[in-house]
Amino acid sequence: MAKRDYYEVLEVSKSASQEEIKKAYRKLAIKYHPDKNPDDHTAEDKFKEAAEAYEVLSDQQKRQRYDQFGHQGMNGGFGGGGMNMEDIFSQFGDIFGGGSPFESFFGGGGGRSGGGRRQRKGSNLRIKLKLNLEEIANGVEKKIKVKRYVACSTCGGNGAKNGTEMQTCNSCQGSGQVRKVVNTMLGQMVSTATCPTCNGEGRIVTKNCDLCHGSGRELQEEVITINVPAGVMDGMQLSMGGKGNVPERGGVPGDLLIQIEEEAHPTLKRDGNNVIFDQYISFMDAALGADIEVPTIGGKVKINIKPGTQSGEIFRLRGKGIKDINGYGKGDQLIHINVWTPKHLSSEERATLERLRDSDNFAPHPGKNDKGFFEKVKDYFQ
Ligand SMILES: [Zn+2]
Ligand SMILES: [Zn+2]
Repeated sequence: MAKRDYYEVLEVSKSASQEEIKKAYRKLAIKYHPDKNPDDHTAEDKFKEAAEAYEVLSDQQKRQRYDQFGHQGMNGGFGGGGMNMEDIFSQFGDIFGGGSPFESFFGGGGGRSGGGRRQRKGSNLRIKLKLNLEEIANGVEKKIKVKRYVACSTCGGNGAKNGTEMQTCNSCQGSGQVRKVVNTMLGQMVSTATCPTCNGEGRIVTKNCDLCHGSGRELQEEVITINVPAGVMDGMQLSMGGKGNVPERGGVPGDLLIQIEEEAHPTLKRDGNNVIFDQYISFMDAALGADIEVPTIGGKVKINIKPGTQSGEIFRLRGKGIKDINGYGKGDQLIHINVWTPKHLSSEERATLERLRDSDNFAPHPGKNDKGFFEKVKDYFQ
């Protein structure tokens, strides 16, 4: 079926003002509202068509694009499927204004069309998880104790004594919703709302469970295993579905939200997926060469300092960094060489160095390959 022109749908002219568009839509939304036209599919289609037209024409940018390109310009979003009821009802706050009689009448924007009781979700549980650099680099399995609400073991979660002392709610006959007739300036309308007697649960507990006193849940300490992937960062949040609290009197549990806290390492610094280490060497080692040991995430590693090593040189240990969280390989460890200049000298040491002071080999002769500090840093971090 060919899509009708949005202006035609709303019965307004192409030059209609925003106020006119809003008014036109309000009129159609009331006329074709599902509560006024139960089981009328033509009305439902018209209701949706009008909502879609309004969605586009009420938005300056979308309207401009539509004016220019027609339906083809509305890529994705409104093309084939149109809007669902949830979307449509959620617009109503805007159309009818908050706090108006329409608010309750349209279900407060919650939007339900003939559905049953809503599945309730419990609250989320938040914890902080401290990890050291080793754990972050390779990922880790952590077992932690949490206290969370689970379904009551005596009543099974419904809050009734022995799990059976309850009856169907009389006000709503168990549906959890009540329909009421509302008089508005536009005439009588039927609306559905959450049943106030049972709070939408559809049943009423006549005798409370002895253990949970009717809440349907109890606090339990539980050991939860968290598989932390490699490469997580400080402040990142992991989520474990269904490991939060169960709501009162039944429903699905919330989530367990785990906030990562990264502990500072005593000697290694993290830079993204790379690890940085500052190594100080004596100028004897720099001049004569030496084998030294440096700490890495996986333990100590020997590196060879070549004779003539300059301060500011950077060694790269490939793959000794942190695994990428998205699986793009592994970072490196970068070792910054700092040549230590002695601050105190004995008279003997002083005399030895004085003898070398005028030796030509000790005078700086930077060549083409001796890059300055900033160039080296540029080389390694670009
Ligand atoms: Zn109970
Ligand atoms: Zn009820």
